[in-house]
Amino acid sequence: MITREQIHELAQFEDPAGCALSFYFQPTTPRNKAHKEEAILTKDLAREVLRQLESKSNRNSNSTSKDKYESARTDLDRIVRLSRDLSGNGARAKAVFACAAQGFWREYDLPAQLSATQLSVNRHFHLKPLAQLLGAFPRLGVVLVDRHRARLFDLRLGELSERMDFFHPLTRRGRGDGFGGYDAGHAERRVADDALHHFKFIAEFIKEGLEKGMFEKWILGCQDTHWSQFEPQLHSYARQKLLGRFSAEVAHVSNEEIRSHAEKIFADAQQRRCQEVLRETINQARHNGRGVTGLRRVLHALELGEVQTLLIGQNFHAQAVECSGCGHLDAHVVHLCPVCGRETREVVDVAEAILPWVIRRDIELFYVKDDPEFDKVGNIAALLRYRSELNKNIRAITEVPAHASLGRQAGLVGRYRGAASG
Ligand SMILES: [Zn+2]
Repeated sequence: MITREQIHELAQFEDPAGCALSFYFQPTTPRNKAHKEEAILTKDLAREVLRQLESKSNRNSNSTSKDKYESARTDLDRIVRLSRDLSGNGARAKAVFACAAQGFWREYDLPAQLSATQLSVNRHFHLKPLAQLLGAFPRLGVVLVDRHRARLFDLRLGELSERMDFFHPLTRRGRGDGFGGYDAGHAERRVADDALHHFKFIAEFIKEGLEKGMFEKWILGCQDTHWSQFEPQLHSYARQKLLGRFSAEVAHVSNEEIRSHAEKIFADAQQRRCQEVLRETINQARHNGRGVTGLRRVLHALELGEVQTLLIGQNFHAQAVECSGCGHLDAHVVHLCPVCGRETREVVDVAEAILPWVIRRDIELFYVKDDPEFDKVGNIAALLRYRSELNKNIRAITEVPAHASLGRQAGLVGRYRGAASG
């Protein structure tokens, strides 16, 4: 499992010679000889990457680039060997990030939800498959509760692990309670009081867990009869962060059942959240509020640190340039950086180039699938935390009628798409 700190490390990594290797391994469903196919696929991918490196190292025929090429070859051999071992062992996917020239090698297990096995080499690591998974998996708590027990689980990147198990024994009815209706009723009330006390304790614990960042969102598993007693005890803050509830018996539910219920609830909640943010962003952008659309404005807002949530079309591709000095990204393909004047270099896929920023700043990220309205505004948009004065002024100067601006952006994206596929 990969931690936030490890992802930050990957986002920061850079190899100026362009020998940072990223390998994503997605196991295929078991069928005849499938494992052999996986290994062959990796070998083919490795050969293709070697070819790219070879042509690069021939272009700059100094000894350093030859050394780099040799070290990348070492990494590729190791990846091919690894994929032979991985093949056929089923359920887990894997990611490897390597750069032998800098002594860098990291391996992570991932849930088997990658779109494909892929291998690439560049200045930075290829992080989109990881970002797609992470966008789908924030720190998630799953709480199971009944009248005297509660269990807390972490669900992260498809892995469920139990964190805590509380048990508050209910007061038992003693022998003396049998005398007349009064005592029996009294004992029942005691049991109900104990249960209430237990629910209060758990509700308080959940609130603290959220405040201390133990988890960002949570899901509840309990019986319907307990929900009516537990719900009133929840703090309003905890209620806001509750994604959904499923019916479960604390003592009997299996980990696999918990995981599948929780993932279903989470997927639905993500879908709802993505749609909400998308509508809000477009609406805010129309009214010159906390939303921006189109690559140029999104890049600008990212550089100003205004972005809270970023929305990118699943198949968005666009070219841009990156300043070799200050790191400025520009949607216009210019040779000199408009910020510091130094030379720029071409970025083949800007949606990939912005990921290190997104990761470093913990920006919420959604990949949007086929949405006509989103397509019209350029397939990239951001909801802002705030809008800085600087950005307001720039916006005011470049303001154009809404329909004209939409048309222009749609045209721009169309051109980028043509360039990317051609
Ligand atoms: Zn610059």
